[in-house]
Amino acid sequence: MKEEINKIKELLDKIEKSQDTEMEKSFKQSFELFELPEIVSSIIDYLQPLLLPYESAIYWYLFRHSIINNGDNHIRVSNRGLGKPRTVLTSSSGQSEGLSYGAVQKALSGLEEKGAIRKVGDTNREGTLFQIFLPDEIEICQQRMKEIQVEELPKIDPKKEADYYNIKENRYKIFERDGYKCHYCDKQLTRFSATLDHIQPVSECGDNSFDNLVTSCLHCNSKRGAKPVMEAIIDNKKSE
Ligand SMILES: [Zn+2]
Repeated sequence: MKEEINKIKELLDKIEKSQDTEMEKSFKQSFELFELPEIVSSIIDYLQPLLLPYESAIYWYLFRHSIINNGDNHIRVSNRGLGKPRTVLTSSSGQSEGLSYGAVQKALSGLEEKGAIRKVGDTNREGTLFQIFLPDEIEICQQRMKEIQVEELPKIDPKKEADYYNIKENRYKIFERDGYKCHYCDKQLTRFSATLDHIQPVSECGDNSFDNLVTSCLHCNSKRGAKPVMEAIIDNKKSE
């Protein structure tokens, strides 16, 4: 009897493992190191103000152990694991060092309701698989971004409004015009990885106008330096 139970356990482990690797493959999303400061800033600016303290602590913990750990926005966690003393947070109730099962459950449900995380797949003995979303993908954060843009609008100096390089909101207009694709190598970029490049370099009196800026990946931007735009496109074609 005992042997049979062990065999069943082994089989279950096998099934769980194969499911996990399949999940990982199909959902894997990679982030580049230089995108992280922007991502962290957007979490602090647009998501954290909308979260309760335990929700915030658990979100950061999940973020650190998924996206920062391996670029994958999936993580399997259990209520008990998250509640362990000195893991996520020290309880403010003072009754124990860790978080209660109920407190963790409430925070996870809160994060799900706010669209910051989503359950994917069933719960097994190691916990539940969650997908973590970034502010760009969370509806309440998108709304907050728009509100902040509107709040800041009257403060913009009309002379400065023509500056599409230094004003963040204007920068996005260039990225949107170019479909977040690198002008030189056509690579699909994100809000976090896109940079702006001057067609006529600043060193040759180029300005920050709408027509003098293009979306560029960091690689092409740093490679191009002060080279005129046609040369850069030809260089890029040659190196392909
Ligand atoms: Zn490029």
